[in-house]
Amino acid sequence: MATTHNYDVVIVGAGPAGMCAGMYAGRSMLKTVVLERGFPGGELLNTELIEDYPGFETILGHELAQKFADHAAKFGAEFQNGVVVECVQKRADGTFETRTESGDVYLSKTVIVTAGGTPIKLGVPGEIEYAGKGVSYCAICDGAFFRGHTIAVIGGGDAATEEADFLTRYAEKVYLIHRRGELRASKILQQRLFANPKVELIWNKTVDAVEGDTQGLVRNLKLRDVNTNETSELAATGMFVFVGFRPNTGIIDGHVEHDDMGYLLTDANMHTSIRGLFAAGDVRAQLTRQVTTAVGDATTAAIAAEKYLKALADGDPSEPIIGSGGYTV
Ligand code: NAP
Repeated sequence: MATTHNYDVVIVGAGPAGMCAGMYAGRSMLKTVVLERGFPGGELLNTELIEDYPGFETILGHELAQKFADHAAKFGAEFQNGVVVECVQKRADGTFETRTESGDVYLSKTVIVTAGGTPIKLGVPGEIEYAGKGVSYCAICDGAFFRGHTIAVIGGGDAATEEADFLTRYAEKVYLIHRRGELRASKILQQRLFANPKVELIWNKTVDAVEGDTQGLVRNLKLRDVNTNETSELAATGMFVFVGFRPNTGIIDGHVEHDDMGYLLTDANMHTSIRGLFAAGDVRAQLTRQVTTAVGDATTAAIAAEKYLKALADGDPSEPIIGSGGYTV
C-alpha cells in the first residue's frame, strides 16, 4: 500500500555520493532516507578494483560499497528500495514530494540528488538487438562470459581504458576502438593499457553496425575510418561500450539549471537553482567524476542542507542561506 513518509533529507541514489551524504546527514541528526532502486553501491558495483581512493591502496568495488553503506547506516541514515519517478517542490512552504514507482511519497524540506548516470549507447544498428548477447556496458558484470574470446571495447576515456585492461583477464584478445588518434584517459591508465600484450588499439575508427550469427550472438563489427571513410570488418564475439554517461536527472523538475549535456549546475555548496535541492556526484556538472570527487561533493551537500534546514527553522527562508559563488561547470 502506498504510504507518505516525512524526512528532513531525502537522498536519491545510493552510489558513493548518496551514501556519503547519508553518513553526514545522519551525523547531523537529520532524519535521512537514501532511496535506491537496486543494491547500494552505484558505479562501485560496476568496478572490480578501486585503486585511487585514499587510504586503500586497492579495494574491491563491492567491498568499498559495503563499507560506505555500513558507515551511513551507523550514523542513522535509512536505506529504502524504491525507483524514484518524480521529485518536485510542490507545496507553498518549499516541501519536496519525492514519489516512487510503488506510489510512496517522501516529504522533505531538502533533497540531495545523487542519482548518477546511465551509460550512453552508440546508437548503431545491432547494438540494442545484441544487448546481453555480446553487447555489454559493464565489464565486471559480463566479463567472465568472454573467457578465451576476441572482443572489442569502444571509447577512449578512463572507463574504456581501465575496462579494456580488466577484460584481458578473460578475453584472449581485446581491441580498443577509439574515434580519435589519442586517448583522453589518464596517463597511468594509458601506460598500463599500452603495456598489455593482449590489447590492440584501433585508432580513428567508429562502429557502423553490430552483426550476429544464426544463434543470435555477436560475431562481427562493421567499422568506419573517420578520416578516409573506408569501411572494414572486425571478427569479435563481444562489444563493450564505454562512451560516457548521461546524467539521471529526468525525475527532477524541468526548471532546474543544467548544462548542455543535462548535468545539474550547482553553486560551491552543491545547491542547485531550486532552493533546498542539492546535487552531488556524477549527476553534477564538473571537471571529473571520481569516487573522491563524489564524496567531496556529498559532504558539502549534506552540510549545506543542514544549514539550509536550520535557516528555515530560524524563520528566514527568504534570505540567501549560504554563500553561493555562482554556478559551476
Ligand atoms: P568520458 O571521459 O566522457 O569518455 C568517453 C569516451 O568515449 C571519449 O573518449 C569519447 O571520445 C568516446 N565517445 C563518446 N561518444 C562516442 C561515440 N558515439 N562513438 C565512439 N566514441 C565515443 O567517459 P568515461 O570514460 O565513462 O568517464 C566518465 C567520468 O568518470 C570521467 O570523469 C572519468 O575520469 C571518470 N572515471 C574515472 C575512472 C578512474 O579514474 N579509474 C574510471 C572510470 C571513469 P573523445 O575522446 O573523442 O571525446
